[in-house]
Amino acid sequence: MIRYLKYCFVLLISFIFLFGISNIYSNEISKYSLVLKGEFTQGSILFAEINGVSQEATGTVTFNNNEYDFENDKNTLFTSIPVGLATKSGDYKIDVNIEENGNKYSFSRTITIKSKSYGTQQLWMSEDQLAKYDNPQADRDNDAIIEALKAGVDDIEWDGQFTKPVQGRTSTGYGLRRYYNDDPEPEFHKGIDIASWNGCNIVAPQNAIVVMARENLVLHGTVLVLDHGRGVGSLYLHMGSICVKEGQRVNKGQVIGTIGSSGASTGPHLHWATYSHGVPINPWQLFAVPSSWIK
Ligand SMILES: [Zn+2]
Repeated sequence: MIRYLKYCFVLLISFIFLFGISNIYSNEISKYSLVLKGEFTQGSILFAEINGVSQEATGTVTFNNNEYDFENDKNTLFTSIPVGLATKSGDYKIDVNIEENGNKYSFSRTITIKSKSYGTQQLWMSEDQLAKYDNPQADRDNDAIIEALKAGVDDIEWDGQFTKPVQGRTSTGYGLRRYYNDDPEPEFHKGIDIASWNGCNIVAPQNAIVVMARENLVLHGTVLVLDHGRGVGSLYLHMGSICVKEGQRVNKGQVIGTIGSSGASTGPHLHWATYSHGVPINPWQLFAVPSSWIK
């Protein structure tokens, strides 16, 4: 009897073990796997790709309640995923959905986002300068800029790594928390400020399409937005002049305008910000794009 019970017990344990394991893996077993490259920290860009799909395959990837479409380029699904500066540190599930020849595949993966400090700064501004930030037109301009950064162009091949659009010292870094006057709520500095001189050429850091070219906006000054495809866009503020047009294709290294001090600016510089799907990401990380993304 005891031997029989032992036998049943072993069977039961085996069943629980096997069933448990198959249950854990049933969600993970997929024809495909997600390759994620980049730094899993606040303010980062992650490069997501799924290799070996057919030319017809489409798909989406969801991170932190935001869904992004993949682009299909020569049997690989590509997109970038932004980790916002205000994203809380901790574990996040990444959900992938692929549709291919009428079949659907879904799987998930958990990643851990770590916090990253980019420093803080206290700024004192005159009432006149601050009024430019409170101007409702500045809010509307900002909305138009973010819309442009989400243009979603999808047929641009990348020519090597990204480069800096203008040489010069970085006067304010990316991700800095700025406290204005007595306001206890900080604002993140979404790009880098590169100090330069009036009239100095600014070049495209990568192949792109010009999706916005506007002059003399109240806060942002003369503004250019480039779409580099794969969800990546770049923004140029306080320019002196623009020499390209909306809808125009530009090549990496091509002159797109000059340095100035337009809008709410205190001296000649370029505010250069880079985005993934409209979310500001660390520009320096674009200098290390995975080689599989470069033709
Ligand atoms: Zn700036």
